[in-house]
Amino acid sequence: MTDNFTRLGLSDKTTKAVAKIGYISPTEIQAQAIPLIIDKYDLIGIAQTGTGKTASFVLPMLTLLENGRARARMPRTLILEPTRELAAQVHENFEKYGMNHKLNLALLIGGVSFEEQNKILNRGADVLIATPGRLLDHFERGCLLLTKVEILVIDEADRMLDMGFVPDIEKICTLLPSNRQTLFFSATMPEEIRSLTSKFLKNPIEIEVSKQNSTAKTIEQKLLKTGEKPAQKRASLREQIDKAKDLQNAIIFCNRKRDVAILTRSLLRHNYSAGALHGDMDQKSRTQILEDFKKNKITILVASDVAARGLDIPNVSHVFNYDAPTHAEDYVHRIGRTGRAGRTGYAITLVTAKDDKYIRAIEKLIGKNIAWLENSLNLDNKEQSHWQKEAKIKPERKANQNNNFAYAKTKAKAVDKTKKTNNQNEIIKKSAFGKFGHIPAFLLRSVK
Ligand code: AMP
Repeated sequence: MTDNFTRLGLSDKTTKAVAKIGYISPTEIQAQAIPLIIDKYDLIGIAQTGTGKTASFVLPMLTLLENGRARARMPRTLILEPTRELAAQVHENFEKYGMNHKLNLALLIGGVSFEEQNKILNRGADVLIATPGRLLDHFERGCLLLTKVEILVIDEADRMLDMGFVPDIEKICTLLPSNRQTLFFSATMPEEIRSLTSKFLKNPIEIEVSKQNSTAKTIEQKLLKTGEKPAQKRASLREQIDKAKDLQNAIIFCNRKRDVAILTRSLLRHNYSAGALHGDMDQKSRTQILEDFKKNKITILVASDVAARGLDIPNVSHVFNYDAPTHAEDYVHRIGRTGRAGRTGYAITLVTAKDDKYIRAIEKLIGKNIAWLENSLNLDNKEQSHWQKEAKIKPERKANQNNNFAYAKTKAKAVDKTKKTNNQNEIIKKSAFGKFGHIPAFLLRSVK
């Protein structure tokens, strides 16, 4: 089995670790990227998370790092990540794949004391993994010299752009030796990202593992019309959670951090096993909630985009978009949490009357129409008439919205909507326990 990896030029120590972990053959991006990285090429990798992208640079870096030693405050390699979670995850990957290497790893992220991080830097880091802001803070305090960096990895570059990190990256690149090797990964390649690569990479080889902006065929995607009021949206969401087939665990995405907190509280109140992950939480709580989710201690993770981008959470069976994402690329990233490695995944997006433009942008980006589920009962009269008009004005969309006819039925039912919604809530309450079996006692306490 290790032959599959040895053929790519990886060292003995590295292939032994891969064998121990149990990988049988390299993923597509690994098969393409690893030999090029070992041959010291600059690389542009267009790949989404879930493709095995992290190992595609970590494994060859481990092989290359076997020659040489780190000096105090002068890291040999630098990996830039847009969020603390991603940085921590890459750090974990180095520990896992580097089990046979005695390498010094340093993780520079916010929320951890400078003193601790300085101690590690002083020991000499073979691999420095950092978010751009924290790295520059250390540099400006004089704790770090970047003149001995042999390999620079810029990961999730499109996310860096969204988060406003491009000026920081440009600055960091000027602090590095010009003869370094640069590996650049991004799920999408907007113009601003393309121009970064022409500025900072030398004769790069570009590889792309799946069509840009595509969504995996293994994901069953659906749209659901819902009312705009938060209570209506929450009821629609619970309805979908309860109806979901084979739900093992789920991530629910909200556009705003505030809504992550509100929705989590509401789900807990309804006895669902849920936890929140958003950028305003301290590092310790974020790590803890992620661990709980990975270990199935909680079933539902309610998250914002920034917090959840690129997280390596295997086997997510369902993704729910509580809010339709306003950036179409975020849709691709969000639903990429499910349907990984050939497994079937489900992605359901709640759509209010105001979200139509976002859905159109998403469908344009992914190059296909997403089917509609039958209407939720959580629409008021005004919202129903909006969808009715929408269907008349745009017959071509109507054809795609295979369940659009349902608004008529829903309208007829609207008279006793309140009653039905109440009934429905009763059913949901009753079914919540059955759905998730054991719910930890601490989740059952009443939440204000
Ligand atoms: P990534 O795209 O880096 O987020 O990786 C996605 C998942 O694929 C992670 O859970 C990895 O552990 C897993 N993975 C990476 N490489 C392989 C491989 N060659 N075979 C099987 N699983 C892999």
